[in-house]
Amino acid sequence: MANIVWHAKLRISLDLTKDDLGHEGYEGLWDTVYTMDRMYAARGVPVAERDLQCGGVCRDAGVEAPMYLRLRANGRREAVHERREDEERHIVPVSDEHKAYQERILRVAAEEGFHGDSEVRTSVGRSWIQTDTLVEGADGLRIGWEVQLSSAGTQGPRSVRARAAKAEKNGITPAWHTDRADYARRHDTHWTRSDSLPAYVIAKTGDLRVVSGFRVLDFWHCDVRAVYSCPDGVRRCRRFHATPKPRDVLFDDLVRRTAAGTIVPVQFRVGGTTHRFWVTDTDRDRLEDLRSDDTQLPPVSEPDAPARASRNRPTCKPSYSAPNAPAPVPVLPAIRVLAQQAPSAAETVPVQTGAGAQPGVHATLHRSGLPDELVALQQAADDAHLQLQRLDDRGERDRQRRVWFEAAGAVQAAVTRYAGAKGLNRYEVEKRLRQVVRHPETQPGPPP
Ligand SMILES: [Zn+2]
Ligand SMILES: [Zn+2]
Repeated sequence: MANIVWHAKLRISLDLTKDDLGHEGYEGLWDTVYTMDRMYAARGVPVAERDLQCGGVCRDAGVEAPMYLRLRANGRREAVHERREDEERHIVPVSDEHKAYQERILRVAAEEGFHGDSEVRTSVGRSWIQTDTLVEGADGLRIGWEVQLSSAGTQGPRSVRARAAKAEKNGITPAWHTDRADYARRHDTHWTRSDSLPAYVIAKTGDLRVVSGFRVLDFWHCDVRAVYSCPDGVRRCRRFHATPKPRDVLFDDLVRRTAAGTIVPVQFRVGGTTHRFWVTDTDRDRLEDLRSDDTQLPPVSEPDAPARASRNRPTCKPSYSAPNAPAPVPVLPAIRVLAQQAPSAAETVPVQTGAGAQPGVHATLHRSGLPDELVALQQAADDAHLQLQRLDDRGERDRQRRVWFEAAGAVQAAVTRYAGAKGLNRYEVEKRLRQVVRHPETQPGPPP
């Protein structure tokens, strides 16, 4: 298949990605060309004599590659090469560098005890999601690595936002990595970038540095002493703001920590643009805290070290060096323990739901169709958050924040168990649960 068809008789290119095939003045051009092609087919006219040729890769290569048209049941227009060898011209082989990245991701994940696989197809309803390298992380986290290198087309991958959104919706955190600066500047997903390196260097165990896509958040008070200008206006608003600052991270740490859930993606709006990048979970929590209440400085719950020092021989020169790189701090074990404890965290939630209550077949149901227990847990977490926003005392806020985190962890764990037991999409369950609790007035009742 190809998207550009050359019409040899009309001497025009037809762009199948456009409704009008790229020719504004000619209404119904597709219908005309398609009907004609069908008619030729019905009359037994050979494809090579129907004036339609590949106008993309094959034409660029100086080859006249005959094509025919077809219309899929879902309305999608396609041009198909008549000869297999022409079709194969379009398939870019997986480069050695690409393979080296896939192997490195799997190796690092395996060292941390995470399972992973390359070229994974996850079925989703009637279609599927193809993932370059999928890492099964802690607590049900799934990280879908997509590596896009210079060897790929100059146009860059298409529909990245749609592909990333589809993955997210189905419980896969997309992680797109590139060695191209132009891809890394795009906002369609949280791209990370390393310098362009040969395969044998990527395959080595030395340091491989990620030079963009990871940020640390600077939280600051908007007063006359602030070094940044107020993002909301000219004058000092006396609230607190967050400013993301680029920071290098080692690729292996990125693989480990995304799988462990201690490096997470966030969205950050500046003006009309949504920026997407990775931060530590601590920064993400503080950002959420700030978004819910920007009259207080979100406190730090744990020390954090994203770009730690390493004694390994570097495999590439960092193009951005982190000033004052903090000393190594063992972040992973603490988080692992926390993740394992998540289910029992329910015991500390203000609303008790009975010993070992498992939302499932025997659970009592809320009128929304969701188990009462889930609704109660979500309610408890939301209440804890609301209380946090009302507190002023630093110590009380710290305590309440822990209550909120634990309550939120309990909902997460319960949703995971419930979705798993019922074979439901976890993301959908979570979304519906939040809607049921936060907007009870818009509830249409149980799903059909
Ligand atoms: Zn072609
Ligand atoms: Zn301000």
